Amino acid sequence: MKGSKLEPSARAATFRSFIVMDVLERAAELERGGARVIHLEVGEPDFVTPQCVLEAARRALREGKTHYTHSLGLMELREAISSHYRSRYGVSFSPEQVVVTAGTSPALLLLFAALLEPGDEVIHSDPHYPCYPNIVRFCGGHSVPVAVAEEDGFQYAPEKVASALSPRTKAIVVNSPCNPTGAVLSVERMEAIAALGVPVVSDEIYHGLVYGERERSILEFTTNAFVLNGFSKAYAMTGWRLGYLVAPQPFVRPIQKMQQNFFISAPAPAQYAAIAALTEGWAEVERMREIYDERRRFMIRRLRELGFGVASEPRGAFYVLANARRFSHDSYRLAFELLEKAHVGVAPGVDFGANAEGYLRFSYANSIENIAEGLDRIGRYLKQRERPR
Ligand code: PMP
Repeated sequence: MKGSKLEPSARAATFRSFIVMDVLERAAELERGGARVIHLEVGEPDFVTPQCVLEAARRALREGKTHYTHSLGLMELREAISSHYRSRYGVSFSPEQVVVTAGTSPALLLLFAALLEPGDEVIHSDPHYPCYPNIVRFCGGHSVPVAVAEEDGFQYAPEKVASALSPRTKAIVVNSPCNPTGAVLSVERMEAIAALGVPVVSDEIYHGLVYGERERSILEFTTNAFVLNGFSKAYAMTGWRLGYLVAPQPFVRPIQKMQQNFFISAPAPAQYAAIAALTEGWAEVERMREIYDERRRFMIRRLRELGFGVASEPRGAFYVLANARRFSHDSYRLAFELLEKAHVGVAPGVDFGANAEGYLRFSYANSIENIAEGLDRIGRYLKQRERPR
């Protein structure tokens, strides 16, 4: 009998990598060789997880809460999520609509798997978080990028979103504050997008990290929406792997069935920790937010001094998407060049969409000292690179 050839499926083989992770992995190689790399590429808080969260996790471990939980998550956590949205945004949904997941990333996968038929379209901005189109395609959908312009604060222009609609449009992704641009969508534009009548998938993972006006939840504008959120960013909990999805009721059971099969449940100790994050962690979030804000202002100023373009100042998350076209139009090459020659990790714009080519994303989730050192190194390297040989 002739066996089939042992090779990865086309689905797996054509799946795109997350380029920033490639930068990180090359940086780790350089570090193994003795280099001291400054990391401005990763989207990961440098803060220790708040003490009240650590204490709640220790308590859970001491009490032996180390087993599977309900597939939708602990009811106490789902209630805390619902109360959090009620008190922060004045919106209400039932804890029964909340699905707790092992990070926001699995929530994205479960959501698009539950939403898309083959050929359905999902609109997202360009630049965008790299995983949106990758997951949409994996689930059989088509991603439809809508360019957002630096001169327009990298915000969705609702009329451009409207003209990208088709009979196959299943959802519009909103990510405010946005990774990689740091843009916060204005109330008027959020209203206009909600008014298009298409379900909105709102990735609210950077909520809590806004420098200026309060961020808004999509649920303040429409109930025709899915909310994704998680504990990685605002609570400095990337490694705990905890997030959640708020879905219209008819989607909960189908998503629950996938969760049962794919993941069983989110990790139990992390769920107990997350209850403390929501109920006791806000003062700590506020403290970290103030420090990020200081770093943000420092980074914008230094980048401009070095000749990078920051036409629209980021007002949320912890990233600056800076125009690097003065130095190169090939962001992938420039990012790896800065890593190899100056030992500074940055994320190439092209990872975030064709419209971000020629840009670099700098993360300020690092100490002022490291940001200063990293940008000084880049400055010295670029100066020497410009010198005629
Ligand atoms: N959405 C956005 C916009 C992100 O930046 C990230 C993390 N980089 C995620 C989702 C996923 O986060 P996690 O799985 O850690 O919750």
